[in-house]
Amino acid sequence: MTRRETLLRFAETRTPRYTSYPTVPHFHTGVGPADQARWLSALDPAEPVSLYIHIPYCRQLCWYCGCNTRATTQDGPIIAYMERLLAELTLVADRLPSRMRISHFAMGGGTPAILSPQQIDGLMEAVRARFDFLPEAELAIEIDPRHFTRADADGLSRNGFTRASTGVQSFDPAVQAAINRIQPWELVAITFDRLREAGVPAINIDLLYGLPRQNIASAIASAEAAAELEPDRLAVFGYAHVPHMKAHQRLINEAELPGAGARLDQADAIETVLTDYGYRMIGIDHYARPWDPMAAALNAGTLRRNLQGYTTDPAQTLIGLGASAIGASPQGYVQNASDVRSWGAAVEAGILPVARGIALTDDDRVRRTIIEQLMTYLTADPAAIARREGMPVPEIDLQALETAGILTRTGTAIRINPAYRPLARLAAAAFDAHLPRSTARHSVSV
Ligand code: SF4
Repeated sequence: MTRRETLLRFAETRTPRYTSYPTVPHFHTGVGPADQARWLSALDPAEPVSLYIHIPYCRQLCWYCGCNTRATTQDGPIIAYMERLLAELTLVADRLPSRMRISHFAMGGGTPAILSPQQIDGLMEAVRARFDFLPEAELAIEIDPRHFTRADADGLSRNGFTRASTGVQSFDPAVQAAINRIQPWELVAITFDRLREAGVPAINIDLLYGLPRQNIASAIASAEAAAELEPDRLAVFGYAHVPHMKAHQRLINEAELPGAGARLDQADAIETVLTDYGYRMIGIDHYARPWDPMAAALNAGTLRRNLQGYTTDPAQTLIGLGASAIGASPQGYVQNASDVRSWGAAVEAGILPVARGIALTDDDRVRRTIIEQLMTYLTADPAAIARREGMPVPEIDLQALETAGILTRTGTAIRINPAYRPLARLAAAAFDAHLPRSTARHSVSV
């Protein structure tokens, strides 16, 4: 069987992206505000934390969007949301054992840059009033080039933001029309200029393959156009068509979606373009300059995968603020109420707005480490990991993946064949003790 045939054989298997383990569908309402309060108060004050803030608003809705967001042309809902967000910040900070240091700060959404520069000023002032930033801390934010001014760039710069992620997806006008996101290359180039002139030092680009009307030529042209802008990093994801979970995706014409073979060809073509431009592939879906900290962390074995994807952030604890935000701590995961109204009502009542979560067992911790290493380094030694935790080695059957040449075993170590990097999720899924009950909710593997 050729590589292509093997990839296609497994491509449509639905697997999680494993930015957490256990994955979000297994969070439950048995974990709530009291657990989060206890977990926050038990944090080690000597250890830095990561802080994530979710802003669930955009000016327009992109039809491919998989995020928890809503479109608004009004500022009123955003102003009201920010008042509650600052109240949630206080609720959380009051439960910490001391003033904590932040190693990584990220704002996502939605479109967090929908906030005015003055709103960003106010938010950052509130964060700095309760937390200290490490000198080397990364401050990252997602921006929408269609709504980003020079004043916005200056606002990010004066508040110390070090990285901006620009949602691009595709530069092809036909594809852009099919996903309701019209955004010419020139507009993105102007955004890059604004960020660089303002002094925001690093810029990422997000691309998608598998979009309606996308073909290989279109994917190649978009990857080349993106690389010409010289971003520091790129993330390249396959479009996840899940209209049963995201109703607005029904606006996408399914007849125009590329099939599994075409998706695979697009992903391969993008990889060729970006590696030809000098980018190094990281994990299963990121690219970075060879001198980028992410590439250095990969070499040093310090790269990690958390709820925000691949990261150089060493923090074991992630505090999430805002509707639907997810937090992680050594004890487990928590997720805030997704619906803005429920989230806001809890905050107004002075209650941590946690709606669900999961406490980690020792077995979860072993499997989480194995899965993180497979997804990040394409290799893991389950026996060594289990031994370190004083736990039994998870019993799993990798025979089908081994026979297909997707992975090899040397002693107790597993190594995914780099040619089958897109199927790393399958190897990770083999270690997922929670998976069998939830596969239909996940996207296809390639
Ligand atoms: S801008 Fe981003 S978050 Fe907002 S609708 Fe488009 S894809 Fe979704």
